[in-house]
Amino acid sequence: MPCPLRRLLHYLPVPEQALPPPGVRVSVPFGRREVVGIVVRIDASTDQDAHKLRPLSAVLDQAPLLDAALLECYLWASQYYLYPIGLALQTSLPPALREGKPLPDLRPLHWQLRVPPEALPRLRSARQQEALDLLARYHSLSGAELSALLERPAPPLLKALQDKHLVHLVPIEPEATGAPLLKTPALKFNSEQQAVFTALRQSLGAFSCHLLEGITGSGKTEIYLQLIAEVLAKGQQALVLVPEISLTPQTLTRFRERFQREIVAFHSGLTDKERLEGWAKAQSGAAQIVIGTRSAVFTPLCNPGLFIIDEEHDDSYKQQDGFRYGARDLAIWRARQLGLPVLLGSATPSLESLNNALRGRYRLHQLHQRAGVAQTPLLRPVDLRQQTLYEGFSQTLLQAVRRCLERGEQVLIFLNRRGFAPMLRCQHCGWFAECPRCERAYTLHQQPGALRCHHCDAHKPVPPRCEQCGAAELSGEGLGTERSEQRLQLEFPDFPILRIDSDTTRAAGRLHELVQTVQSGIPCVLVGTQMIAKGHHFPKVSLVGVLDADSGLFSADFRAQENLGQLLTQVAGRAGRGDVPGTVLIQTWYPEHPALLRLLHEGYGSFARHLLDERRQGALPPFMHFILLRAEAMQRDLPPRVLGLARHWLAQHPAPGLECFGPMPSPYGKKAGRFRAQLILQAATRQPLQQAGQALAQWLDAQPEARKVRWALDVDPLDFS
Ligand code: ADP
Ligand code: ZN
Ligand code: ZN
Repeated sequence: MPCPLRRLLHYLPVPEQALPPPGVRVSVPFGRREVVGIVVRIDASTDQDAHKLRPLSAVLDQAPLLDAALLECYLWASQYYLYPIGLALQTSLPPALREGKPLPDLRPLHWQLRVPPEALPRLRSARQQEALDLLARYHSLSGAELSALLERPAPPLLKALQDKHLVHLVPIEPEATGAPLLKTPALKFNSEQQAVFTALRQSLGAFSCHLLEGITGSGKTEIYLQLIAEVLAKGQQALVLVPEISLTPQTLTRFRERFQREIVAFHSGLTDKERLEGWAKAQSGAAQIVIGTRSAVFTPLCNPGLFIIDEEHDDSYKQQDGFRYGARDLAIWRARQLGLPVLLGSATPSLESLNNALRGRYRLHQLHQRAGVAQTPLLRPVDLRQQTLYEGFSQTLLQAVRRCLERGEQVLIFLNRRGFAPMLRCQHCGWFAECPRCERAYTLHQQPGALRCHHCDAHKPVPPRCEQCGAAELSGEGLGTERSEQRLQLEFPDFPILRIDSDTTRAAGRLHELVQTVQSGIPCVLVGTQMIAKGHHFPKVSLVGVLDADSGLFSADFRAQENLGQLLTQVAGRAGRGDVPGTVLIQTWYPEHPALLRLLHEGYGSFARHLLDERRQGALPPFMHFILLRAEAMQRDLPPRVLGLARHWLAQHPAPGLECFGPMPSPYGKKAGRFRAQLILQAATRQPLQQAGQALAQWLDAQPEARKVRWALDVDPLDFS
């Protein structure tokens, strides 16, 4: 049921009708409304009041919409991620299906006779008779075929025949495609790729989980493509998950150029109709390859043979609100259930996956060299001490940019903060402009000029004077991408400066345009946020500059260093992907920081293995598992009070190995006008944590006090803010 119940409801069958099979949609009375529900199970008895059970109103599908395996996957996910099953389905099915609309029949429609040929009447219209005779002779024809045979438009004739109930439209099973699988030939593997490919190919046909740790540009995607070809050749389907930002036309083009088969892509830009059609094509097998972001993990597949999760470390695989599932972990669960291999690929594996690989739960494959001609870039720190800074740019970096542009190459400048400056401060009294709803500094934007809160949607005009002392000396402090862009324009007036962040790419197609300009190869400087760090292939970029690496080194978030290592490595991976060798300059005040040194000298692999040791010693994930209970409310005291009650209840229901921390204010203690607090449940094994989570959810559901706050449970949380 599309409602927040953590249980299933019993209904009686539609009177005088056969029992509907699990997986079909039904229309049911719910309170005073009619809603669309999904049959999960048929039970012979009920724990509800049997006299009050109501019958289903109607069965909406002839065949199950969700097969037994997918239904089971949903049930498991709903239980594991502590989210009501009805809402889980509600938020991940295509909208048209939730509303009860029929699954479209994608088969081509042909005209056929409705009566046996011998029973056909003689018609007065010679033209209608001719059409009827052709259908009797050929059995089944499309409208276009009939028009061609008749040498005149068939539709008016067919309409007349249809009105006489003599012909009808019938969906036709498509013939097995005889077209060759590949449009363009596969590349010839280098020896490293070949070894990995051979091992992976042997694993097809049964469950196994593989981590492909290969530096950026080492040819992971080429391995995916050739493995997919193997799977398609067996008549099976492949599901490829990619991070939100990577599902660029570029990625799709690469797949579409290789395969002469139907590929459906699921991303946020689809219309409801496209989403429904894609879903139906995957389910019917009309599509052989499904590529999609997080929610594509729930795609129905009639004959799956392989799952691939590209950039498996990417945070966008975890849903951050509502149904907070982790698509990577669910994909692995589904692969096990369906008995097929799942391949996780990344240049910068998550510590979770790396740990599983090192402990032998996943098979580890590595690629150390760049494929083709490209060389691995050189990473160098730039010591900011004793340097004059020009809006955050050191002389060293500016000179390197100049040399690069003069050689006709491209530069990429990375800064993970959009806007002009992260703070507007009074030089006289120290006051700074703050969003009252979040109690955090507003970011100063110049194009168009405004103060914008990056934690909620609040914004206001830039004040002409200090709101505390009235002084006119207000200035933007700190760096944002707009500011870097302006400085670069000043320094390099003869070259295009392209800014790529969520402000410049809001308009549809704008990102694609910017990316194409870069790919045209003209010498230019790109400046942007993590949007430029991921996925794109810019062969002419030979220099990458990182303006500020330090915030990740000293954060309170235990995942900050992991994320910094991933980000720097991914940004660095944009350099020297073509035949120009790349250099990466990383500006820092702490060039001797051991973590940074390890990353620069030994690479991400060694850096990550070291972090993993630290996590083990600190009893942090992946050696510890968390459930985060978050509460927020307009009144400051409500969230801690409700969480305090929860903690008290947990203390009365102790579970072995379960520990509880909090309630404490969230790092973002106020957001969009709501005060926020959290309680952390942790255990070294998942089982007691799961049990406590389930019980806690049930208990919270029943607490009147808890209804005064917005609360949510986040299992395996990534975001502790
Ligand atoms: P990754 O996915 O690891 O970043 P890609 O598969 O995108 O790597 O490969 C990087 C570049 O190298 C691409 O331009 C690709 O076409 C090329 N490439 C990959 N494998 C080979 C190969 N065996 N021979 C020549 N070029 C290759
Ligand atoms: Zn002031
Ligand atoms: Zn705000």
